[in-house]
Amino acid sequence: MSHINTNQNHKIETPHEKQNRHKAMEAIKVINTLKEEFKSPIKSMDYFYTLFEDVYCHQKSLHNDKVKVGTMCIQIPSEIIYALDGVPIRLCNGFYTDDELGSDLMPSKSCPLVKASVGHLSSQNLSDKPHMIYSPTTCDQKTKAGATIESFGYDVVDVDFPRTKESEISREFFRRSIRNFAVDLSKKTGKKLTKKNLKSSIGKVGYAQSLYHRLSDLRKNKNVPILGVDMFLVTNAFFFDKINNWIEATEHLLQELETRVKENIHVAGKISPRIVYTGSPPIFPNYKIPLLIEESDAIIVADETCSSNRMFNDRVAVDEWFVNNMLDSMADKYLKSCTCPIFSKNDDRIRRIIELVRSHDADGVVYQAFAGCTVYELEQRSVLEAMEKEGISILYLESDYSPSQSGQLSTRVEAFIESLKMKKRKKGK
Ligand code: SF4
Ligand code: SF4
Repeated sequence: MSHINTNQNHKIETPHEKQNRHKAMEAIKVINTLKEEFKSPIKSMDYFYTLFEDVYCHQKSLHNDKVKVGTMCIQIPSEIIYALDGVPIRLCNGFYTDDELGSDLMPSKSCPLVKASVGHLSSQNLSDKPHMIYSPTTCDQKTKAGATIESFGYDVVDVDFPRTKESEISREFFRRSIRNFAVDLSKKTGKKLTKKNLKSSIGKVGYAQSLYHRLSDLRKNKNVPILGVDMFLVTNAFFFDKINNWIEATEHLLQELETRVKENIHVAGKISPRIVYTGSPPIFPNYKIPLLIEESDAIIVADETCSSNRMFNDRVAVDEWFVNNMLDSMADKYLKSCTCPIFSKNDDRIRRIIELVRSHDADGVVYQAFAGCTVYELEQRSVLEAMEKEGISILYLESDYSPSQSGQLSTRVEAFIESLKMKKRKKGK
């Protein structure tokens, strides 16, 4: 088991050291749970456990030699950043320690994800500190957080983002926005976008997406070879890892899981309910609800969240390989494939959840909304109604990053899973 220094040598800590120690403790608790609590360990997951331990417990920098481009949401095309020889670092944060720091800077009832992202950046305790930050104007809280983050001395650039996606106006609007982003980053990095570097980065990100889809297909099996929490760790690693390393580690994981499927090695019981997870995104180490689900003998077989599935959805489809055509195709892809409830309509998100339930033969859906996130709270009614109409069981939970909340949540999760098990037994599934 990995241990971290719990400061028992009575050395006087600076506030930064104290925050780092608290974050390391949060991180290692989850890593050790993933490593040790579940049966049938997967060898190739060691890469991901070590990666998170290195970054969050030992503050290891991964990208010292690169231009680090912070992104506040999934709508910034990583293909452009890679083409300009930078590395994208998604700044969405899941630490309770950072959430508490952010509570002093934002209204305490704000979304914990946004508070934690602001808290993290305010601490200046970053293993890979971004040189600049691009902030798409998505939800209100993210949009407003940009100005607070700027006050810490960061170069924060707003990227205009429409709140509808069906109209030609919004399509044109976002195309212009992405071109502006590309011009701005090109100036800052001193590099030029070319047909060659953009085509190559589209290919590389597309290949990473295809690996995710192959992993996802394996979870359709009756005997699921990997836990949902492990899958969240793999996809969360894509936020900050070196892309070539992530690809290599995921290829190994894929091979191992394919073998497990052939050999009938699985991580859940015969009667374990299969769950599709949706709503506010699980971001390391805030795996509170996914862990509760899987510790209660259910298995997450798919998700519809922006920290996982949504990052890998559609690939950029290019007709003409000229720089501006590629930029336009990218803008279209990022806008169209985003199913965040920030948009005025959310029909495609509902459609996608239903598709995932059907394709992964799921028994129910768990919908998490972060307390303080009005868009998910507002949207949940329409999702609940749609699931009811389709005869799909759904549990709606409101949660935050606080560790003290687990008791009441686990009672509700366990009751839901028990009800799904009863249905399965009745159906003789
Ligand atoms: S929930 Fe929506 S706005 Fe927030 S990070 Fe995810 S995609 Fe972006
Ligand atoms: S969970 Fe809600 S408030 Fe938080 S980033 Fe996502 S949309 Fe914005």
